[in-house]
Amino acid sequence: MTATDALWKLSLAEVARRIRAKDVSAEEATRACLARVAAVEARVHSFIHLDGEAAISAARAIDARLATGDEVGPLAGVPIALKDVLAAEGTATTCGSKILEPFVSPYDATCVARLKRAGAVSLGKLNMDEFAMGSTTEHSAFGPTRNPWSLDHVPGGSSGGSAAAVAAGECFATLGSDTGGSIRQPASFCGVVGIKPTYGRVSRFGLVAFASSLDQIGPLARSVEDTALMLEVIAGHDPRDATSLDVPTARWTDEVGKGVKGLRLGIPKEAFGEGLDPEVGAAVRASIERLAGEGAEIVDVELPHTPYAVATYYVLAPAEASSNLARYDGVRYGLRAGQDGSLVDMYKRTRSAGFGDEVKRRILIGTYVLSAGYYDAYYRKAQQVRTLVRRDYEKAFERCDALVMPVAPEPPFKIGEATGDPLRLYLSDVLTIGVNLAGLPGISVPCGASKAGLPIGLQIVGPPLREDTLFRVAGAWEGVSGWKNRVAPLDGSSAGGAA
Ligand code: GLN
Repeated sequence: MTATDALWKLSLAEVARRIRAKDVSAEEATRACLARVAAVEARVHSFIHLDGEAAISAARAIDARLATGDEVGPLAGVPIALKDVLAAEGTATTCGSKILEPFVSPYDATCVARLKRAGAVSLGKLNMDEFAMGSTTEHSAFGPTRNPWSLDHVPGGSSGGSAAAVAAGECFATLGSDTGGSIRQPASFCGVVGIKPTYGRVSRFGLVAFASSLDQIGPLARSVEDTALMLEVIAGHDPRDATSLDVPTARWTDEVGKGVKGLRLGIPKEAFGEGLDPEVGAAVRASIERLAGEGAEIVDVELPHTPYAVATYYVLAPAEASSNLARYDGVRYGLRAGQDGSLVDMYKRTRSAGFGDEVKRRILIGTYVLSAGYYDAYYRKAQQVRTLVRRDYEKAFERCDALVMPVAPEPPFKIGEATGDPLRLYLSDVLTIGVNLAGLPGISVPCGASKAGLPIGLQIVGPPLREDTLFRVAGAWEGVSGWKNRVAPLDGSSAGGAA
């Protein structure tokens, strides 16, 4: 074995340190990841676009700067990859949709520009449910991604490519987006860490909009420290996103080792109710006990409007989506079909051919709830319930510093098992979407594995802008759980015993 053989297994923090110390070059790190991609990608299918040549030339440019003693950023030479909902100059940005297949972005999203400035090397764009609508990555126009721990299971979604790529060792970190759980749930299904920051923490300039009052970008990686490093780079005010918050960022990596002594952790009873898989419940309860053993104070709290969160989200998110997706009409971007007929005919043909079933379903729901006769009954009512959901969290945070609960009610399921049952999939978002409705930060950290060897995640939710608390709790749990920097072997063995 040569020194670079297992480079792809390192943590992001470690590979960044070795590159800066010139123990390994950026090119070696990039080639190591590309070799791993070559070995596993045909089975996992995390990527929609892979551009190895561009990655190697970006890595060489970093090496040249390192050689001259140039100031390089904190992620210099580190291979990463991007959910294909993010604009990256000169690359296709498909959003997992046929309708954007021909679209090449003329600019970088702010978070992509920040990653580049920090020296990160992008390997390409990652698979996702079309327009980020889904929780399995089966709704991609480019075929499903598979769970690296068990190839006949889903990786979660909609950022399934982002979670699977990290779990499979194809790169050190990725970016995803989370409108109702799409970073946290795939992180949980793939045994990696994923954080949805506070609404407004990361600029969404260059993120293709799904539901603008809920969308947020965040990182996925194999350790809490690595996600903190990524967030330090991408967070911060951006005048090009009107919802971006002008607040200071922090050294979140410093929080990871601080421990939980003195922190009050709230356990929402509604998160442990009916429909929770017993293995998930047991794994999460065991982690809570462990955190108590580490000095956290455990308090019982209530989120009484939780039963209404799914219905609220599935009115508001489609309503916003129906408006945001109106721009895909064959005129300005991407696919154009039926241009020989009338303008309206072209709109119809383009949208019929370009959008998949789930996206059409959402556009129909969204248009319906916004229509004149139904606006008050559905859309306005949902806005009112959203306020009640947010107040639940405000009240809970009067009694605790963070909430601890499961991410998803069940472990990863088989590919194809739920595709014909949209309601089952919508209901499975019950534990993540309240966090988006309230604009809060939430992190998913691996907490064990099911008997079948599939990962289970622990969710930690904080008050607005308290990512520091999330990193403290997640770091403390990771420290005692033994689940850190695990890469799926992809040799037939599974995630194995719970921590
Ligand atoms: N599963 C949810 C949905 O289908 C969440 C998606 C997301 O967060 N982008 O809408």
